[in-house]
Amino acid sequence: MSQLGVGKEVLSYCNKCKLTLAHIIVTMKSENTIGKVQCKTCGGSHAYKDPSAVKASKTRRGKKATKKTASKESISDIWMERVASASSKSQKYSIKTKFELGDIIDHPKFGPGVIDKLIDADKIQVIFRHDIKTLIHNR
Ligand SMILES: [Zn+2]
Repeated sequence: MSQLGVGKEVLSYCNKCKLTLAHIIVTMKSENTIGKVQCKTCGGSHAYKDPSAVKASKTRRGKKATKKTASKESISDIWMERVASASSKSQKYSIKTKFELGDIIDHPKFGPGVIDKLIDADKIQVIFRHDIKTLIHNR
């Protein structure tokens, strides 16, 4: 009952046109499996590509790529984001000053940094442009 056969028209993904287009079946692998097809638009012949299969794999690949980019975010990207979104003014770093989460500090050696974590009563984790450091405060 198959509609497939050499010379029949079928929808296939065309690599040259980058679209799902009408193709003519050139060869059959088996009774129900299409071998080669010829694109009616560009005239190129290639292996048959199920348009629905192409779509599915494309979506999966796209999602993976997005995840990779997010996890690859460098310290300086995080630093820039935090500094830009901080509402408080920067304060000169001193071990005597008590800092709060999200505070911007100005370190004489490392430059501007954002308080990322309050580790202890006297310890803070600070994101600087190129490094994450643990500093003493509130002494
Ligand atoms: Zn084509």
